[in-house]
Amino acid sequence: MTLGSTLLVTFDGLRSDRATAALMPNLAAFMAEASRFANARSVFPSETRVAVTSTFTGAPPLRHGLVANAFRHPAVPERTLQTGSVADLLHVASKGPLIDRPSLGDRLAAAGKSMVVVSSASTGATHMMNPNAAAHGHAVFSCHQDPDRPTALQAEARARLGPIPATGRPNAARIAYVARVVTDIVWPTHDPDVCVLWLNDPDLTSHAFGVTATETEAAQRHADDAFGEILAWWRAGKGPENLIVMSDHGQITGAAVADPLADLPAEWRDRSAAGVFNGIWFDDPSAATLERAVDRLIEMPWCGLVFSGRAGAPAVRGTLPLDLVGQGHERSPDIAFTLRSTGPDATGPEAQRRLFVEHIDVGGGIHGGLNEGELATVLAMAGPCFRDGFVSETPCWLPDIAPTILTLLGLPTEGTSGRPLTEAFLDGEPPRVLHTVHEAAHRGFEQRLARWTVAGKGIVDRGWTDGTGAWR
Ligand SMILES: [Zn+2]
Repeated sequence: MTLGSTLLVTFDGLRSDRATAALMPNLAAFMAEASRFANARSVFPSETRVAVTSTFTGAPPLRHGLVANAFRHPAVPERTLQTGSVADLLHVASKGPLIDRPSLGDRLAAAGKSMVVVSSASTGATHMMNPNAAAHGHAVFSCHQDPDRPTALQAEARARLGPIPATGRPNAARIAYVARVVTDIVWPTHDPDVCVLWLNDPDLTSHAFGVTATETEAAQRHADDAFGEILAWWRAGKGPENLIVMSDHGQITGAAVADPLADLPAEWRDRSAAGVFNGIWFDDPSAATLERAVDRLIEMPWCGLVFSGRAGAPAVRGTLPLDLVGQGHERSPDIAFTLRSTGPDATGPEAQRRLFVEHIDVGGGIHGGLNEGELATVLAMAGPCFRDGFVSETPCWLPDIAPTILTLLGLPTEGTSGRPLTEAFLDGEPPRVLHTVHEAAHRGFEQRLARWTVAGKGIVDRGWTDGTGAWR
């Protein structure tokens, strides 16, 4: 065990109100004993690769530039860049920087420290957890790597634990396996300064069956069983000093399919990306073009929140500024919009719903937007620096996690946009928090964005539409 060493465990897609003692007793016990963050949030869009990149750079998409799971990128002018594809990510990296901020692995390598990633997530998500791992000599275990060309850690795992089990929904066997890679191999033989264990349930199962489905609850229980093994091992002093548990986003219910591209002018279609996060990258992003697009969008029955104002340009009438939601990078779309979703009166996993484009069936879980159920995440931290049994009401979000880990290791946080969560430290003080609601209205379409400012840094609470944009 090294000073400040940390294991970061992620339950992908676990919305905070679903982390109950009945479904996840080990996690609940840990959170009760640790410092728990009651107002933890994801980023926008609340998509996994964006969330991963924001977590490990300590920055929102505005600063790191991986602005969505799928977006238009000058290195792939003919089509939409797919961040789920490592080939696409490596292609972009061959043309220039993939992201604009160093990742945690880069910072650790520069300080002579080590990081190990163990993941059952997709190849693209796992890549973004430590994009330069190979160059740094940092070990990576992915369930998806080519079995004919295993990494050293994969070969070690196979020799000790047998082959990687087949995937499933719930993904119980794989999740139990990757947890054992951490306890049985990573710490005994690598003793890293930082290890990431990324469990892709309940996300995987929830997408298929729905947020409150029996299958999803079983996935939560299986993931919690694996965490129980980790917790017992950590409490026995066999692991790192610090244990941090997070989720990257929540999920809400996919209510019905929308097809925004079919309803938009043909000349916009090959300049657009559609999903829960949607964007249009215009050849001519003049004010007149953007105003015409907004007028068209807000008439559509599927249109949710609409954002504009990239690179310091003012937002178009009726839209909210992109930088309010951590967007507005030069690769962000000229206009970003979400699909319509339930408003703040709909509370709880049964009531929170949204339209979606693809990937799931009606009733399946979905995420990516600004609904509270998509943004509300789990975050808890324990170790010698942290208060025990402490509930922090101070809002925080994914970009705060890397600066906190760096602080635990005694390393500088310059260049991150987040904030070390020192209010949970034994000698910490809560920072000043302001809560604001930003509004924009145009032709009867209304949108609102609730936001916190914590120690001068903005965090998105949630967003919703109203008036002619209300959920119906
Ligand atoms: Zn995710």
